[in-house]
Amino acid sequence: MATQYYSTNNRRNIQPLKEAVLRSLPSDRGLYMPEEIQPLPASFWDDWREISLAELGYRVTSHLFQGAIPEDELRSLVAGAINFPAPLHSLGNDLSVLELFHGPTLAFKDFGARFMARLMGHLTKDDGRELTVLVATSGDTGGAVASAFHNVPGTRVIILYPSGKVSGLQEKQLTTLGGNITALEVDGTFDDCQRLVKAAFADRELSEKLNLTSANSINISRLIPQSFYYFDAARQLPEDSEATFIVPSGNFGNLTAGLLAHRMGLPVAGFVAATNVNDVVPNYLLNGQYDPRPSVATISNAMDVGAPSNFARMVDLFARPDKPEAEQLGDADALTAMRASIRGASFTDEQTREAIREVWDEFRYAMCPHTAVGYLAAKGTVSQGHRIILSTAHPSKFLPTMEEELGKGAVEIPERLACLADEPKASIPMTPGEEAFFSWLRQS
Ligand SMILES: *Cc1c(COP(=O)(O)O)cnc(C)c1O
Repeated sequence: MATQYYSTNNRRNIQPLKEAVLRSLPSDRGLYMPEEIQPLPASFWDDWREISLAELGYRVTSHLFQGAIPEDELRSLVAGAINFPAPLHSLGNDLSVLELFHGPTLAFKDFGARFMARLMGHLTKDDGRELTVLVATSGDTGGAVASAFHNVPGTRVIILYPSGKVSGLQEKQLTTLGGNITALEVDGTFDDCQRLVKAAFADRELSEKLNLTSANSINISRLIPQSFYYFDAARQLPEDSEATFIVPSGNFGNLTAGLLAHRMGLPVAGFVAATNVNDVVPNYLLNGQYDPRPSVATISNAMDVGAPSNFARMVDLFARPDKPEAEQLGDADALTAMRASIRGASFTDEQTREAIREVWDEFRYAMCPHTAVGYLAAKGTVSQGHRIILSTAHPSKFLPTMEEELGKGAVEIPERLACLADEPKASIPMTPGEEAFFSWLRQS
């Protein structure tokens, strides 16, 4: 039978794939998790080192879904989503960087967003009505979602972004695609954008009428494809070598995907949760106290998260399944189990800037600030096997910081980002009040 998805707040609240993906969040505000995560069958390991990344992704997903989608359709869905590589760049000896930024918007979020877009397109194709994806963005997510859904049949995307508060190239990523992508330029802050999106979802009638869904990063379908590259990286190591994965983290989706891969049987020596000064999870691993708090702004801003949304999934993976959900957070067994797999480490902006310079001086390699946090954590990691730093974004996406540390010219801007500079921007100006937004939505 096809795998079902439970809520981390109530394991008896179970939904099929379509509900879990289109709703994004269970009504009890937990997070969806696959009901069963079994080890991959022995046959998977026969040729896993030889197949393409897309084929590997298909087999992993097929194993997780257990028939929720016809196999031939699933295979082409994954192939369409994962059509770019994730090369391992060696920094010598036992240290490598896994470059996850070769997708269209130059960040690892392309993996999750492209898979989710195609999956949503597939799940709604027989519904006979268009799906409207509503998303508020402060920068990167909107670009990845826009690019992922562009030209996906039966879907359209409405992006709300704060006017003047995203970088020039980021804005171009949101406003130049056209077609089924519409950008609303809100005269306000990111919080205003998020408030408007929430209000639209809360309005039952509107939400029904427009068939609204969210492209939220905690959607289970964004997590699954992020497990693929853990397999892909591990198979590039010598057969007897196990990797320690160092994961620059904010909402901990990336790290949780690694835990899923491990749960499916991928041999892993361990994980390192690397953060900037927003160190709620490293602190939990250190002293057992989970203290979410408002985020602090840093130069690795995609990791500025004070209440990491995937933490509930991490605890759920390590807690004993017979424990009541409410007790899991303070569960000493879960903490002990988590500590056996994950070590935490956090770093300041000062240290991060120094690391960017050090990596350039030593290896002539330009690392984005997020990846540099991972590099610092890798330096403090003693491993018998290989250390792999997940590189979450291309350095050109953070050009001002990179130029402050390395001067001009060290970082090349890839053509697909650079060419956006000359594209004309198309956005619809919007006041931050609900009334104007709702009336626009109703006629859209
Ligand atoms: C989103 C993001 C992160 C954080 O990833 P999580 O899965 O939220 O932990 C790190 N680096 C970059 C560049 C990102 O865009």
